Amino acid sequence: MRKPKIAVIGSSSMDLVVTSKRRPGAGETVLGESFETVPGGKGANQAVAAARLGAEVYMIGRVGEDAYGTAILNNFKSNGVQTDYVEPVTHVRSGTAHIILAEGDNSIVVVKGANDHVTPDYVKEKRDFIETCDLVMIQQEVPEETVIETARLCQELGVPLLLNPAPAREIPDRVVEQVSYLTPNEHEAALLFQGEELAKALKKYPNKLFITEGAAGVRYFDGKEEALVPSFPVKPIDTTGAGDTFNAAFGTAIAEGMGLRDSLRFANRAASLSVTGFGAQGGMPTRKEVEGGLT
Ligand code: ATP
Repeated sequence: MRKPKIAVIGSSSMDLVVTSKRRPGAGETVLGESFETVPGGKGANQAVAAARLGAEVYMIGRVGEDAYGTAILNNFKSNGVQTDYVEPVTHVRSGTAHIILAEGDNSIVVVKGANDHVTPDYVKEKRDFIETCDLVMIQQEVPEETVIETARLCQELGVPLLLNPAPAREIPDRVVEQVSYLTPNEHEAALLFQGEELAKALKKYPNKLFITEGAAGVRYFDGKEEALVPSFPVKPIDTTGAGDTFNAAFGTAIAEGMGLRDSLRFANRAASLSVTGFGAQGGMPTRKEVEGGLT
């Protein structure tokens, strides 16, 4: 079978993670215990997950002119993600997330850096390539105008677009109409459909709006009735990246031509496996692992 061709338009970053017994207060210095650098960013996570699941994945993103940019590109390459459309931005740093794990909780400062340069024009320049894809995926760690332009362009080109509206922000109604698949979690759905009952919103967007509900699975309206496709019971170790794995797996299955229900089951299976491993990309399963669990 031909591999489905997917373009992921989105963020890539380096997470700089320190662990410390105590969180420093204002003006205070404390001694930490460990330091790790971990590749992340929702776009990069979804690209890596889709490549592990067997898609031919092209990242459309940007890195800075620094060592993190090189590390981000190397991570794409070692996971089989094509980097032809990841262009460095001169005099700009790569996106970073500065994470302190202390006292059983995390504090995070995100610096968007080069991710802010994933502009509408940057996407438009790739028009001829995008037209050849089976599916485009995008999230909201890039500027809002980029999401708006991508939705318009994909509709014009007749290429299906999966919008994962994370992190939460409001989306113009026109964009919701233009996308093929919209996959908020419950928190993002509450913000998107403020004041509206979610059951009503689901009915308004049959086979388009898919609300992920953590361990419970994913809810949608199939044209006749509301359905909850349950996830698979696992012992969660780290749920970071569950949403990214869900989106990548759902996109891969849809782009392959799998039916909607089977695609949701495949996505639940992949996402449930991802929560049994540490870190966002650390837990992302291979195709073999997902199919092993589905038989
Ligand atoms: P995150 O921010 O942790 O990456 P999210 O909030 O975007 O995730 P969720 O709705 O929590 O998204 O989870 C996405 C999907 O992951 C769910 O629909 C489900 O398939 C799977 N999942 C998440 N948590 C669990 C769990 N504890 N057990 C089984 N499956 C899970």
